[in-house]
Amino acid sequence: MKRMVLFGSGGWVPSQFRDTMCIPVEIGANLFILDAGTGMRRFKSRIGSALLGRHDTISIFLSHYHLDHIIGISYLPLNFTGKRVIIYAPEPGANGRKPEEILTRLFDAPVFFPLSGFPCKVEIRAIREGEQEIDGVRVTVHPQSHTVPSVAYRIEDFLYYATDRRPTPDLVQYAAGVEYLLHDASFDERRVASVTDPEAREKAMWGHSTAQDAARLARDAGAGHLGLIHLSPSMKETEYPALLEKAREIFPATFLPKEGRWIRFE
Ligand SMILES: [Zn+2]
Ligand SMILES: [Zn+2]
Repeated sequence: MKRMVLFGSGGWVPSQFRDTMCIPVEIGANLFILDAGTGMRRFKSRIGSALLGRHDTISIFLSHYHLDHIIGISYLPLNFTGKRVIIYAPEPGANGRKPEEILTRLFDAPVFFPLSGFPCKVEIRAIREGEQEIDGVRVTVHPQSHTVPSVAYRIEDFLYYATDRRPTPDLVQYAAGVEYLLHDASFDERRVASVTDPEAREKAMWGHSTAQDAARLARDAGAGHLGLIHLSPSMKETEYPALLEKAREIFPATFLPKEGRWIRFE
């Protein structure tokens, strides 16, 4: 059985409707979690506690270290008591620091209490770029262009997770033929359509992609489905359907994630 549930599909700031990035993926006996945003709070929900009831070891894969993707590490003591939590974090970290150094320094006094004092056993492992096998699952890590180093994860051939990235064309090859592509769709193209100066455009985008960029990449990569993620908190929830329509004009099999619902893979 392979399935995922989006606990967080929003960017930067959580809203009444969306948490920040957190996607549990259940693959047989494994529970992988893509990013640890505010969606980590949903492990207290019925689906979340049932998931934790089935798994004693949980692997979290971080795309990068921006706070909206790691803040949920501080929620681990609430729901993960007694679990073994392995955090795979990309290298090189910011300023050449090691993943372990970045996270143990952040989650420590006076910001929080130390990871070593958590009621679960937290291990931090640097994840390298390229293909590797983790607990019998083929995971491929690709570098991405963002305001800081960021990585995308391909899980076998059923899922490609690409958040916090500029729309570079290498994704077409990296995500080729994947069943589900989840791609950064932080903005609508209208936001930047009138901005011709590259520097001003870069400032308006903050290292992200538009829904239309995501749709073009999904189409060119031959993905089965495209989920728009890292939705901007500067837009209202009622504005997202229009964003979806724009993306569907380019790639019809695009969907807007509903948080807390299972999506099964073939
Ligand atoms: Zn983000
Ligand atoms: Zn970011």
